[in-house]
Amino acid sequence: MGSQCKENVMLFLSWGLIILGIAYWKVQRKEVARYGRYRSQSFISKTLIPAKVGWFLQEMPSFVVPMLLIYQSNSLDNLGNKLLLLLFCGHYFQRTLIYGCLTRGRAVEINFVVKSFIVCSWNGYLQGHSLLYCTKYDDRWLTDFRFLFGLMLFILGTTINIHSDHLLRKLRKPGEATYKIPRGGLFDYVSVANYFGEIVEWFGYSIATWTFPAFAFALFTALGLASRALHHHRFYVEKFQEYPKSRKALIPFLL
Ligand code: NDP
Repeated sequence: MGSQCKENVMLFLSWGLIILGIAYWKVQRKEVARYGRYRSQSFISKTLIPAKVGWFLQEMPSFVVPMLLIYQSNSLDNLGNKLLLLLFCGHYFQRTLIYGCLTRGRAVEINFVVKSFIVCSWNGYLQGHSLLYCTKYDDRWLTDFRFLFGLMLFILGTTINIHSDHLLRKLRKPGEATYKIPRGGLFDYVSVANYFGEIVEWFGYSIATWTFPAFAFALFTALGLASRALHHHRFYVEKFQEYPKSRKALIPFLL
């Protein structure tokens, strides 16, 4: 571990993410986070910002913070560290600039954007610092089973996530705000294929990096998205009489 590694800060931020994830899970079991289809109807319009702007602003720190850390440091000389940090930044480049520009979602409340901005800054710093200063892989890591298996899961999850978000987007014309039954891809098996992909992606990343901060983020993602997935599934079953009975909420054939 490098002398610049802030080990205690990394532990504190990682446990913080896990505790936040558990708290989020508990709160969401009772009341779902108020964005998208659950957005509060009573909000006055000036507290809302367009989805494209909101998603761009809130996700951006998870791309910008690690890039700034890379820029500041000279320690990214190892291929394993480089590749893994670039995978993380690549995900958030996609989420900030591509998903953010293409989304046809409804406007988001400003307090949701602020909260997400804080979590993305926190996690961007955590993953960036952890890979730059606290983890050293030797060249054998690139052929290690954990790296290869984790990378495969990461790529699989990313593909499912991006493809599923694309299928959801195609359900609407620009300006439309209605909900339809998603079909195709993994949506034929689960109600929230995009969440399933995201969870697989971050568990893959945590296996490929084999770090506690990456595992903490995977757990945080799973806790937050699983609880929301159950609400989405219930929403579809209640709204559409013809909703496919065999479709599960989040995990094909299981949950
Ligand atoms: P949703 O699946 O709720 O919505 C995604 C988009 O599709 C929204 O624009 C939504 O519109 C639209 N949409 C959803 N369902 C339908 C439907 N049945 N008919 C028409 N349009 C639909 O995902 P989130 O907004 O919660 O998340 C977006 C992305 O961010 C996902 O890829 C998710 O995995 C990721 N994410 C990651 C988190 C993490 O912790 N790593 C946390 C949260 C999200 P509208 O906004 O109007 O509902």
